[in-house]
Amino acid sequence: MDSVKEYVRRHRLRHELELADWIAVPSVSATGEGMDQAAPYALELLERSGLDARIVDTGGWPLVVGHAAGPPDSPHVVIYGHYDVQPAGPPEEWHSPPFEASIRDGRMYGRGTGDNKGQHFAQLLALRALRDVDGGLPCSVTVLLDGEEEIGSPNLTATLTAMREELAADLAVWSDGPVHDSYEPTVALGVRGAVAFEITVRGANSALHSGNWGNVAPNPAWELTWLLSTMRAPDGRVTVDGYDAGVTPLTDAELDALRALPIDPAAMLAGAGLDRMDAGHGQDINERLATPTFTINSLTCRDNDEHRTVIPSVAVARCDLRLACGQRSETVIDALRAHVEKHLPHAELRFGAIMEASRTLPDAPYADLVLRGVTEAHGKRALAVPALGGSLPIAALTDGLALPCYGIALANVDERNHAPNENFELERFHQGIVTAASVLTSVGRR
Ligand SMILES: [Zn+2]
Repeated sequence: MDSVKEYVRRHRLRHELELADWIAVPSVSATGEGMDQAAPYALELLERSGLDARIVDTGGWPLVVGHAAGPPDSPHVVIYGHYDVQPAGPPEEWHSPPFEASIRDGRMYGRGTGDNKGQHFAQLLALRALRDVDGGLPCSVTVLLDGEEEIGSPNLTATLTAMREELAADLAVWSDGPVHDSYEPTVALGVRGAVAFEITVRGANSALHSGNWGNVAPNPAWELTWLLSTMRAPDGRVTVDGYDAGVTPLTDAELDALRALPIDPAAMLAGAGLDRMDAGHGQDINERLATPTFTINSLTCRDNDEHRTVIPSVAVARCDLRLACGQRSETVIDALRAHVEKHLPHAELRFGAIMEASRTLPDAPYADLVLRGVTEAHGKRALAVPALGGSLPIAALTDGLALPCYGIALANVDERNHAPNENFELERFHQGIVTAASVLTSVGRR
């Protein structure tokens, strides 16, 4: 890797300028801002890395795809990333404009620096570096840049399945999200799925005087909180029948890997200002983060944002579930529908973003080589993370294309992805190029 490191050192400024140019192309899939320019720009970035690239229609925002051949019989690696970004959010909370990269204290600030332009650009620069120092790539590579990740990748599985022959590969790698809290080098093997939903309970056609109508008009807020109390017990058990159908227990190798992850529960809680953990669950923090969740995100009553003595007309709970491996979104949705139908049939249930869980086992093909590549890049043994707490559309690759998938997060823990002042430590960006090159080199030596 010494020659790759030297290449990265020599081209530091140029790489930062190119990343800054990429940040300056807005690509907000949720609103469409800049999306017309973003896919052609991504295409050009793939071409600059020597890939034979094209834009693929998905029915939604397009997918950008590029291929480069490695030596005959070398493994074929799919590299997944996404060129769309979250909306910028409140402009007054940004210390510099979101779509104008600004470098302060060794970090580049701007929407998409960490999530995900800086991370997939590091992967693309690794291809350039390998070509420059070795005269070619150690593996055949297909890069996929999704334009819909931030809106739940609704068309990704269907698009990739239709491209199945072209995407007949040996493994996939992706770089997204922050590195492990401990800052130890890691490789993520799985991600949890997600189902977002909203429960609405309606009462009268407007708020009613609580003295003139109390005990007469039903109160949607009481009905909603009662319904919620039938869904999760005080000890943390989810009490929706069939909710966890199909959950596959963690294997011994996965449990060993979870227990080997360095985590300081007291520091983690203190950092968040907490003096206690969520009730129940009985396992350690790493196991809690790999199992299903049921979260109330917000509880609101319409027509009563100040304190007035009324019976509200509408109560809304926004919730999300994180799904563990084996738990399928359709089953979870059916279970929630049946539960609400049984306990409060007049409540309305509406589903939002959905992502399936994905799993790659610690002994899956290439797992050892990917871990070795990350280890060699850092000079420190990389650890496997069996399941990330968050959700990414990786099931499109593991289930849709039957590929083992490996996540190599590059961004700092405080990258502030999705929030104002998103940033990427430039040292990590440059190191990420070396890590990505090291993984491809290790896989190519199989
Ligand atoms: Zn994101």
